[in-house]
Amino acid sequence: MSLPSRASYRDIPLYSPSKVKCSVDLSDNTNLFGMPPAAERVLRETVASQVSRYPVGYAPELKQAVARYTGVEPSRVTTGCGSDDVIDSTLRAFLEPGELIAFPDPTFVMMSYFAKVNGLRYAPVPLKPDFDIDVDGLLATGAKLIYVCSPNNPTGTVASRAALERLVDNAPGIVLLDEAYAEFARESHLDLASRPNVLVTRTLSKAFGLAGLRVGYAVGNPTLIAEVEKARGPYKVTGLSERIAAAALSEDVPWMKARAEEALAIRARLVAELEMLGLKTLPSEANFVMVPLPGAPALAERMRQRDVNVRAFQGLKGIGDALRIGCAPWTQIEAALG
Ligand code: PMP
Repeated sequence: MSLPSRASYRDIPLYSPSKVKCSVDLSDNTNLFGMPPAAERVLRETVASQVSRYPVGYAPELKQAVARYTGVEPSRVTTGCGSDDVIDSTLRAFLEPGELIAFPDPTFVMMSYFAKVNGLRYAPVPLKPDFDIDVDGLLATGAKLIYVCSPNNPTGTVASRAALERLVDNAPGIVLLDEAYAEFARESHLDLASRPNVLVTRTLSKAFGLAGLRVGYAVGNPTLIAEVEKARGPYKVTGLSERIAAAALSEDVPWMKARAEEALAIRARLVAELEMLGLKTLPSEANFVMVPLPGAPALAERMRQRDVNVRAFQGLKGIGDALRIGCAPWTQIEAALG
């Protein structure tokens, strides 16, 4: 028997906590203040009832909760096992193997893996010197799907509204806007999801502090949403996750907003401390900051030996080596700076 030789999901680098164990872990951009209270209550209440039976297909209760939270109709929402899964399903829904996707460089590292495992070609288009997206460069690729992440992981920088609008107005196909960090940003572009060619993805993994629950969603017009659901299974969200996520979206929004504010205040303090050390940071609208720094991987290794985990990048386009530091309670940041 010969096995297929396509790219493998097993090549995807795992989020760091599974690889590295440090008591201070600022490496994965999660809500470093923990999980929200209503979610915790529902977890305790529903664990027994939700694990012995199948959930309802396509998680309608969760769709309702997302619809209320985002102010759209439930028919404009689909969900998945993290926004990773929603993005992956979207690529399968709209592209045949061999077709091209484009995205800024640097951006969310998973995009090149998702392209490869789905047999797609991909065109990375450098960010502009001011970290805005290069709309002409993205359009010039002719790609059938253009992915943009704003605030962008790993830089924390944002795409401008004008650039996003010009991209959406002129793209030949789908624009997939990843707003995983929207709750930390000054501006959301979720309203662009009312355009016929736009899908906006979000997640419960970041500001809502529920990364282990694996819940993400997309908002878009019902025709696009229906296509994405053809490319994903009905039971991608467990019954338990659906209940907890719905509770969080309904009742934990004030908790989420307060923690997001706290993360931003800590970010400002962290940026000031880094500047006092003579280090520049990129202008971030997320719950992490990128610090360009030659030799960042070796420094991150030395920090891990001191029990502090931050994410290092090597040779990023237009940036070089850099550290990405998550905004945790200040005692943890002090440990990282120490
Ligand atoms: N998009 C971006 C930009 C991310 O940084 C991440 C997580 N690191 C994700 C999507 C995926 O998040 P999840 O699958 O946990 O929803």
